[in-house]
Amino acid sequence: MVTALARTVFNPHHYLRVQPLNVAQQLLCVANHGNGSGFWQPIDRARPPSAFHIHRLMSTCRSLEERLEKYRSVSFYAIHPLRPDSIHDLKTTIRSGLASLDTLGRVYIAAENGGINAQLSVPMDKVSGVTSFFNDLMYFKGVRFEYNFGTEDTLQPAFKKLKVMVKKQLVADGMIHNYDLSNQPTHLDAAEWHEQLSTRGTDAFLIDMRNHYEYEIGRFVHARKMDVDTFQEGMKELDNVMAARSQDEEIYMYCTGGIRCSVAGAYLRSKGFNNVKMRLAWITLIFNLLAVKSFTSLCKLKGGITSYAHHLRQNPHLSSLFKGKNFTFDDRRGEPVSSDILAHCHQCGAPCDTMRNCANTLCHLLYVQCEACKRKNSDTCSELCRNILEGSAEWRDGYDYHRQIRPNKVLSC
Ligand SMILES: [Zn+2]
Ligand SMILES: [Zn+2]
Repeated sequence: MVTALARTVFNPHHYLRVQPLNVAQQLLCVANHGNGSGFWQPIDRARPPSAFHIHRLMSTCRSLEERLEKYRSVSFYAIHPLRPDSIHDLKTTIRSGLASLDTLGRVYIAAENGGINAQLSVPMDKVSGVTSFFNDLMYFKGVRFEYNFGTEDTLQPAFKKLKVMVKKQLVADGMIHNYDLSNQPTHLDAAEWHEQLSTRGTDAFLIDMRNHYEYEIGRFVHARKMDVDTFQEGMKELDNVMAARSQDEEIYMYCTGGIRCSVAGAYLRSKGFNNVKMRLAWITLIFNLLAVKSFTSLCKLKGGITSYAHHLRQNPHLSSLFKGKNFTFDDRRGEPVSSDILAHCHQCGAPCDTMRNCANTLCHLLYVQCEACKRKNSDTCSELCRNILEGSAEWRDGYDYHRQIRPNKVLSC
């Protein structure tokens, strides 16, 4: 790399942004570019720098790092009806507004029983610009957005593109009948959530509304796993889960940022009432009356795991009830909440909670892979995928963007 770049005029700021360097590489860089630009040349190995010089170079590295552009993850959602005839104008407005703020990520908007759901990666100096942009949008007049900020900033954007999409539903729930999303469960903030779960301990009935691979790398202790691949499956599973619960029980539910529990909570609260109106069979009526009573004691974690992680940062004396990583639907594939490692590499079984997608983009399997297996298998999930990348095999399977592996399954490699 040094040879290739030798005597090439470049700006190390740009270089560091696209490819983070290790300390030795930074020393090489700063030794020749203390002023921010110039010629790249290796340090003279015959005359290694003194301790004093290394100390000075490290300080320069730190100040360089501080000056590097960083990105913050920003997510939020709002359940708010939007006029169907204005939804495409809104899409254009959001797209151009975020592009002008150098922001990447994913924004879903839906009309009628809909709203907005956004996960963004925003340059640090544009974060307030992005929140002001959404706060000022006339389409959301009267809505107070509650922004969730990631706990770890990144040197590179956590998304590769900006996508703004109009959806039929804000969150695809697979339901045939509509229900009122404004019929929300009780929202507990992170402090109330921590206190109530700490007090109730294992007696609390706690549902993790996320998918199995999110649960695999991190979860609240004693949470009930839905063991589903998608939110649609989770919504179906909810009926089975709730049917077995007692009417007096309090129910707690959580997800990454809160939107899935807003939808699931509204569904549970609406379901009994709607079913009574539609189906008057006596047993159904009894069941649904019990269900309505039970579901009024439904609490969700406001702001999801992300807000809980911030609460822990602000209150370091608290012992986290969430263990492991909070899975994120961006290139980071998760941010740590506690130092516990709950998962294992799907290839060698070593403790590991790094989720990756197979480098064979036709495969795109989401799985846990440790650094050693990553190196050994060239970032792929199998010998087949490795061979495909090397050009000695062909992919014959179909393409599924959401391809994933169940926990405890070991991949052959
Ligand atoms: Zn491994
Ligand atoms: Zn693969």
